[in-house]
Amino acid sequence: MKEADIAMYQAKKAGRNSLRFFDPEMQASINAHANLENELRRAIEQQQFQLHYQVQVDNARQVLGAEVLIRWLHPQRGLIAPANFIPLAEECGLILPIGKWVLETACAQLKAWQDDPFTCKLTLSVNVSARQFQEKDFVGQVRTVVQNHNINPALLKLEPTETILLENIEEALATMNGLKEIGVHFSLDDFGTGYSSLQYLKKLPLNQLKIDQSFVKDLVFDSSDQAIVRTIIVMAQSLNLDVIAEGVETEAQLQILHEQGCKHYQGYLFGRPMPIAEFTTQLKRVS
Ligand code: C2E
Ligand code: MG
Ligand code: MG
Repeated sequence: MKEADIAMYQAKKAGRNSLRFFDPEMQASINAHANLENELRRAIEQQQFQLHYQVQVDNARQVLGAEVLIRWLHPQRGLIAPANFIPLAEECGLILPIGKWVLETACAQLKAWQDDPFTCKLTLSVNVSARQFQEKDFVGQVRTVVQNHNINPALLKLEPTETILLENIEEALATMNGLKEIGVHFSLDDFGTGYSSLQYLKKLPLNQLKIDQSFVKDLVFDSSDQAIVRTIIVMAQSLNLDVIAEGVETEAQLQILHEQGCKHYQGYLFGRPMPIAEFTTQLKRVS
């Protein structure tokens, strides 16, 4: 009965009028899924997450701020990258408490920076997932965190992806406008990988486009990537938006981006994502 139930569940998931036979792999995959989900719940309770900070710089290599990237410090398996647990966390809804923790922690750090004249202008970018963005009271949540930590909201940059916004443009627009009223800024992550049109881009209250690293990777050899990057930068300029390139690893990539008019960068060339203690040490060293 249990096996039939699993097969039925898979059939339902595949849409109307489907047929599925049970196969042991289904069971294995469901078990693995359930285990990971349980472990994720425990990770939340026991605070096994950590934020890593990756520096963002301008053309003079001055530090502008950082992006926070989550890591899971698993007691047995060590450091786990977000790609290996964020999709599941989104699927089972655990991204909501995780996302809340990320936002809390990032705002506490912004507050600490803000209170030090040496770091008071640094911005912090925070990734937000579709589930968070679509949550009814997301605007209220962000407002509470910003108020509780008493931070300058303009230093907080939320990073939705193009796909999130495209899923339900009207709802996304309402959420973004609510957030804009609080004063937080937006950087559109993975830009160029979705299907944005200029028509829709100009409606959104964005501050920055983030050129996806897939276009930066082969920039030096690939003339179509060069064309895409050039187009994104020109488009951003005409829409009055900042542009940041992510995944910058070499001087040659930097050179081309700079020639095309890019002004902000993030990538291994300037620094890998690292724990806050290390990030602070590096900050003091470069200045
Ligand atoms: P993303 O926001 O597009 O982040 C950029 C990814 O590129 C990060 O991977 C970063 O470590 C990596 N990266 C940075 N510089 C370079 C470089 O020069 N070369 C290469 N090859 N890679 C570089 P990471 O940390 O594994 O994060 C992957 C994705 O997971 C992120 O993509 C983001 O979508 C998601 N993510 C990370 N933290 C969070 C979070 O707190 N909440 C949510 N919802 N998603 C998160
Ligand atoms: Mg990002
Ligand atoms: Mg990205």
